[in-house]
Amino acid sequence: DDESDQDNRRMEEQGAENGVADMAACYQGFDPGAYLQNNYSPAIADFERKDGLEPWKLACLHRAFTEGDVRGELLVDVGSGPSLYQVMSGCEVFNKVLLTDFLEVNRQELRSWLQDEGGCSMDWTPFLQHVCKLEGRPSSAWTEKAARLRQVIVDIVHIDVHSPQPLALDVLPSAGADCLVSAYCLESASPDLAAFTRALGHIGRLLRPGGHLLLIGTLGMTYYMAGPGVKIPTVPVNAAQVCASLKESGYTLIRLEVYRVPQDMMLCSDDSPGTFFVKAIKE
Ligand code: SAM
Repeated sequence: DDESDQDNRRMEEQGAENGVADMAACYQGFDPGAYLQNNYSPAIADFERKDGLEPWKLACLHRAFTEGDVRGELLVDVGSGPSLYQVMSGCEVFNKVLLTDFLEVNRQELRSWLQDEGGCSMDWTPFLQHVCKLEGRPSSAWTEKAARLRQVIVDIVHIDVHSPQPLALDVLPSAGADCLVSAYCLESASPDLAAFTRALGHIGRLLRPGGHLLLIGTLGMTYYMAGPGVKIPTVPVNAAQVCASLKESGYTLIRLEVYRVPQDMMLCSDDSPGTFFVKAIKE
């Protein structure tokens, strides 16, 4: 009957809220320096290895941003974390780039790079150089790319992908952003597939109709380490589930590409066997 339906719905909603609250609690231990070290230090992000994850990701982003269909004024990076590689191609196409993250420690790390006064945990030079090469420029042009990036980043703000309104009201123009990029955020911040799908819908509200979503995420990952003893559980998704979630949340898929981690390049800081890259359009 109606009453028990309502009770069930209330219990489901409570369960969903608890799952999201548990994730937020896990993230209180997130250590930006350790995360950068685990994933993007020179030993891990080895650009000599052509079959590595970083060259693959940067090539996907380079291609997506240079095909000609992705354009406009404003690019928003959802869940930037302490990292910047995900906007190194997009910063040449968009005049405004907004960085966002859930955690103040990550926004602080990004601010310290932006201000360029030392105190930064990470040297992004190899990434900047690699993206310059993809653009057909000499790797020495990395200083110009760094300057361009610092020039177009308009702000670094709080975001919560589990809120129906992920950004504060006055942050975006009313039409919305022209493009969203998001790397390893949704599956790393969601307790289950339902929350992942809802989060895709929430961030879609930031995007104008016809705008592009460039989404990068892990496949089949159940946890990653975000500091000594800080184990963050994640939702393991497969490519079919990503496609179904996109459709359900109002996106049309243009392309999905998959990277499989070579046996000898598996990280010890997570159990991810692969990464997906999606280019999609908001209907
Ligand atoms: N984009 C970066 C990258 O590619 O390395 C960081 C990815 S990191 C695995 C996951 C990020 O999701 C963290 O920066 C974390 O602060 C952020 N996050 C956690 N909960 C979130 C939430 N509810 N809304 C938005 N971002 C969240």
